[in-house]
Amino acid sequence: MHRFFVTSQSIHEGKANVDGPVARQAARVLRLQTGDSVVLMDNSGCEYVVVLHGISPSRLEGEVVEERRGLGNPGVMLTLYQGVLKGDKFETVLQKGTEIGISTFVPVLCRRSIPRASKGWADGRHPRWQSILTEATEQSGRACIPTLKPLVSLKEALTEASGVRLMAWEKETEMGFRETLVDNMERVKAEGLSFLVGPEGGFDPEEVEEARDAGVVPVSLGQRILRGETAGLAMAAAVMYQMGEMGR
Ligand code: SAH
Repeated sequence: MHRFFVTSQSIHEGKANVDGPVARQAARVLRLQTGDSVVLMDNSGCEYVVVLHGISPSRLEGEVVEERRGLGNPGVMLTLYQGVLKGDKFETVLQKGTEIGISTFVPVLCRRSIPRASKGWADGRHPRWQSILTEATEQSGRACIPTLKPLVSLKEALTEASGVRLMAWEKETEMGFRETLVDNMERVKAEGLSFLVGPEGGFDPEEVEEARDAGVVPVSLGQRILRGETAGLAMAAAVMYQMGEMGR
């Protein structure tokens, strides 16, 4: 069954009434027919199975035949602070990170981020980023869209990050990601995990010192260097695996 996020007003007293892009997609692209069922979600964590009885590119009408709890956020709250990346790489991180189970994404302005990145630049991209998150959430069967925060400076990221706080740093020689994660598992479960990943050029040594001063722990992900868009996704997958969130 196709899954769509709709506004909470679209579902009322057992009836669904949907307009805008979802109606257009259902009618024009998916060519849904009267009698077909869809799953509608209002980002509350509930899902509504709806049998359609009216379909046009401007409006979908249907009857709610089942209301159920959807797939909530994973058992571990992961926040990815991602150094701003070139081109559409941040979009890849949003899409894949949603599939893997990240709860919150925060773009971070680092010293070595692309020159044109700024709060205004990120605000301009916010609607597109939000729709990538919505589509990835629909596709992956989650019932709540991950949170996307506005762009922050590294300093802001270091003060607002909560739970167990790690920074992926390829030059770290003492602390390994796996050991640090395993040693802090109970805190990760209770308080969540925030991890910081740098842009293409990596973090500059002063940034690593600032992170250390703020109590954030730099960790190594092993000897191979991962690209900026790979590191956060790899970390997220490893955490989900460790937490039993990738099948028992
Ligand atoms: N330009 C740097 C690498 C940057 S990789 C260089 O060539 O040395 C982009 C980001 O991915 C880094 O800032 C870091 O956060 C993360 N990363 C990649 N490989 C890593 C590793 N082996 N250990 C820890 N972090 C890594």
